Amino acid sequence: MTVVGEVQTFNGPVDAADLGTTLIHEHVFVGDTELDLNFPHPEWDESALVDAAAAGLERVWDLGIRTVVDLTVLGLGRDVGRVAKVAARTRVNLVASTGYYTADVLPPYFHAHGPGLLVDGPDPLVEYFIRDIEEGIAGTGVRAAMLKVVTDRPGLTPDVERVMTAAAAAHQQTGVPITTHSHAASRNGRDQVAFLTAHGVDAERLIIGHCGDSEDLHYLRRLMDAGATIGMDRFGMEHVLPDERRVRTVLELLRLGYAEKMVLSQDAAFFSRVTPPSWRARHAPNWNMENIPRRIVGQLLAGGASKQDVHQMLVLNPARLLVPAGRLSGVYR
Ligand SMILES: [Zn+2]
Repeated sequence: MTVVGEVQTFNGPVDAADLGTTLIHEHVFVGDTELDLNFPHPEWDESALVDAAAAGLERVWDLGIRTVVDLTVLGLGRDVGRVAKVAARTRVNLVASTGYYTADVLPPYFHAHGPGLLVDGPDPLVEYFIRDIEEGIAGTGVRAAMLKVVTDRPGLTPDVERVMTAAAAAHQQTGVPITTHSHAASRNGRDQVAFLTAHGVDAERLIIGHCGDSEDLHYLRRLMDAGATIGMDRFGMEHVLPDERRVRTVLELLRLGYAEKMVLSQDAAFFSRVTPPSWRARHAPNWNMENIPRRIVGQLLAGGASKQDVHQMLVLNPARLLVPAGRLSGVYR
């Protein structure tokens, strides 16, 4: 296997061939910047949680994981300076991302700034995304290597379309791949593929996230047949769907020949204000970054997946996707 190209991480560029086993949809810390400022969560303790995240990533390293993509974008309390303190204390490559997490509306600022709006000018979202990717995030010099957009139950609202249009523009300028948060129950990954490809994005550069919440093989195959990679990326979220059923879906799709179109991850976090640690301990005890190496890989192998399948989904597919378009060459299988 040869993958040629570099991927930006918190500690600078890394050769795609050196990314190793990669968890492509995770979070270090999820918060809400304004709530955190005014009503700090009782379970949040910054220095203790920076310690816990660094120690947690070292355990993940000991289990064979080499790269973790932090998909905490704007709207989820992104603080890259804080995550950089964690990145400095672990051997795991941490990858930063940009984009905007909203299922329905953007903050009022964006309703006054943009083409044809009160403060007329180019869409600031496009400028922000490109600056994050090309110059670095918030003066840290840490460059984003992934774009993220969201469609949830409300579907393609005007502001969701605006974020996706901006992400498509930033993708076309930078070649950085786009991942999504999709809503499996309404099968709206299809709308994401349709919208983004209509805006000039090659489906091969898309990861439709949270597909692991679905067991609809027809829906999942349609996404992959259109060229997209699907994120089987919520192992451990057993309050949504038990891991046993998530594993069964991956095994069925492997038997149908889709190893090159799936990536595995957990959408876990070391702290999330949305579902704080005490809640997770009670309701989702397997929801952490150790779940795939400790439990899921073994279940996949026991169910008939080959070691090559696992390598394809955890090593080769992430490397292929993370290298910016136009800077990729070599063989991936
Ligand atoms: Zn996520």
